[in-house]
Amino acid sequence: MAETGKAKTITIISGKGGTGKTSVTAAFASLAAPVVVADCDVDAANLHLLLSPEVEKSVDFYAMPIARINQDLCVGCGLCNDLCRYDAIVIQDDNYSVDPLACEACLVCKEHCPEQAIYTVERQAGYWFLSQARTGPMVHASLGIAQENSGKLVTEVRKAAADVAEEEKLDLVLVDGPPGIGCAVMASLTGADLVIAVTEATQSGLKDLIRVNDLCNHFKIPIHIIVNKCDLNPEVTQTVRKWAQEAKAPIIGEIPYDTDFTKAMIEAKTIVEYKSSRIGDELKNIWNTVLETMKSIA
Ligand code: SF4
Ligand code: SF4
Repeated sequence: MAETGKAKTITIISGKGGTGKTSVTAAFASLAAPVVVADCDVDAANLHLLLSPEVEKSVDFYAMPIARINQDLCVGCGLCNDLCRYDAIVIQDDNYSVDPLACEACLVCKEHCPEQAIYTVERQAGYWFLSQARTGPMVHASLGIAQENSGKLVTEVRKAAADVAEEEKLDLVLVDGPPGIGCAVMASLTGADLVIAVTEATQSGLKDLIRVNDLCNHFKIPIHIIVNKCDLNPEVTQTVRKWAQEAKAPIIGEIPYDTDFTKAMIEAKTIVEYKSSRIGDELKNIWNTVLETMKSIA
């Protein structure tokens, strides 16, 4: 896209995992290059498998600080145990301590401890990376096993992507959002100018799509829809079309089931790089529609 000032953001999401969202994002990245790509699916990041980024910078990610008990100050009154809604206070041999895996960092215990025996410690919970992919700069992340706070990490990844777009004077950020409608998805939607929801033509896919659409309506972000594997269940595809028309959520592309998606992935290529194919052509058409839409977004 031509340089126009502040970068626009397109966020690609899906109601659930496995819809082809990441393959679509990677194809768009190839077609839009040079573009900033942000992999905000931090719990199951896999865009790097298709775009093979080379890491240039790695930044520690700290989750919310959790509580600890100073045994020298604790008098064993048990108030923290009574107040903790997450059963994170452990009592062993009359000593009170905090289970770091259960602690949700609400800090209620710290506020109410009569002896000021509770303090907080930072937790290094993962990393985010600034890399160069063949499609341009890429920000992606790695969250430690069993670590929460993916919403906070998504916010950091998104912000870093916006910063790099400004520094490198690129006017588009493509965000591969997390699946579902949880807090990480909401974090990935912040600042989005357009959402593209990738769905499959199944009843559960439609249910997820309706929830995603409600979320976008709530945040007043325009939404476009891509139906993947549209030929596997023509009846449901027809139902999705009908719903989309009523919901004023335009379907901008229908992609038939094609094993080329998987074959391209095995070769670590995006579908538009893989070979000339009907889904590659379809994605180019869809991308042209997206570009037209972006022109109308101030
Ligand atoms: S509230 Fe404070 S003093 Fe009481 S058991 Fe908990 S840490 Fe110890
Ligand atoms: S910070 Fe909240 S969750 Fe953690 S131990 Fe204290 S009360 Fe429980």
